Amino acid sequence: VYSKQSTIYVEPKDDECDIEAAFESCKKIFGIIAVSKALPCEKDIQKIISAAKNYLACEMRTARSFKVESKRADKTFPLTSIQISQQVGGALHQAFPRCAVNVHDPELVVHIEIRDDAAYVHGPAEEGAGGLPIGMGGVAVSLLSGGIDSPVSSYMIAKRGVKLEMVHFFSPPYTSDEAKEKVLSLAKLLVPWCGRLTVQIVPFTEIQEEIRRNCPEEFFTLIMRRFMMRISQRVADQVKAKALVTGENLGQVASQTMEALGCTEAVTRLPVLRPLIGFDKEEIVRLSRKIGTFELSTLPYEDCCTVFSPKHPKTRPSLEEILAAEDYIWRHPETGFREWKTTAYMQDVFEKAGYTLVKAGDIPGFYTDIETGRPGPKLLIMAELDALSAPNHVQAVDGCAHACGHHAQCAAMAGIALALKEPGALHGLSGSV
Ligand code: ATP
Ligand code: MG
Repeated sequence: VYSKQSTIYVEPKDDECDIEAAFESCKKIFGIIAVSKALPCEKDIQKIISAAKNYLACEMRTARSFKVESKRADKTFPLTSIQISQQVGGALHQAFPRCAVNVHDPELVVHIEIRDDAAYVHGPAEEGAGGLPIGMGGVAVSLLSGGIDSPVSSYMIAKRGVKLEMVHFFSPPYTSDEAKEKVLSLAKLLVPWCGRLTVQIVPFTEIQEEIRRNCPEEFFTLIMRRFMMRISQRVADQVKAKALVTGENLGQVASQTMEALGCTEAVTRLPVLRPLIGFDKEEIVRLSRKIGTFELSTLPYEDCCTVFSPKHPKTRPSLEEILAAEDYIWRHPETGFREWKTTAYMQDVFEKAGYTLVKAGDIPGFYTDIETGRPGPKLLIMAELDALSAPNHVQAVDGCAHACGHHAQCAAMAGIALALKEPGALHGLSGSV
């Protein structure tokens, strides 16, 4: 690869080289307006004519009209540009009489260039990627999710010459390893366009759980997005990036209204670039197909934005879970101060629902606080864990049974814990539980 007289040349080193693949790759390099295949030949007009006839036979047969444009950088060549065009044009017309000469609006332009080292016959130029060379526009941090939009927004900003550093927020165990791998694969698909990329994977679970625990549900998404901005800004500072990039699109979802976007970007001093802001979804999908990310983007993996969104089924209390708790605890009775299994079972119910627990440690039991965020009374809800030393007439394990019905208390408690995580459960309430 070398550059000479404002043209970049890509030459095969040997016959093994996949020049077609190189040609396709060149069409993805930003800053290049047009790419054409050229055949070098000896600087001799007869050699040039026969090279043009052979090399462009296919194009000359299908085009209805053509013209020849010549450039002579090597002024020692005995013919002028006009003479070269006339001679090559005449010979081509003779060889392909069905293709008319049309100097004003030809379907095919045959380029002949006489350079220092050789003469070149060019085929028709194909459109390059356009834009500006990567790096010219500085560095930006792009927030890459697994969706359709953010790979496209990354492509668009890279096209303006910006080198990207990718950030992805993931929330294990709510989002799977596959979801993370999908994002890394998307980034790989962007490499031919954007150049070598680093994806910084940010663990986001704790932040999301805190938001869910402490914030009004209707603001979950916005508050979460503000945290994404804050963290991305830190990454930007580390890599000396001067802007953030998102795939946000005006009016697409509730978090992308003007008010919501204003609220999201208020936490960062960096400009937030949203190249898709005014696009219709169809236009975004078309670009996504063009750059080759569509198929992967539409694979159904969860994103951290969606797992905590209010309608996720995991947070719905289900009767089965409550009955399962009752059944388990009935079948595993433990007497006072020895209720370790019962404690573990109940803790599991709470933790899976997203609670952070305060555990006693040396004695069985635990508690948690549920804040509505508004001042008011505190409601204490308690379930007993212990079973009784068993009289003979009840089902007994090692001489002990839930003769007092504590298994039902625990099941009711499991139900309360799950119900209070329901979307909107704390809405309109004040105080704490
Ligand atoms: P996308 O199709 O890009 O996921 P979206 O229409 O689903 O976008 P949102 O989920 O609201 O919209 O996300 C808006 C933007 O926020 C995304 O385009 C992306 O830039 C960023 N974003 C969302 N989720 C993540 C994530 N998990 N990691 C990094 N950035 C994210
Ligand atoms: Mg998304």
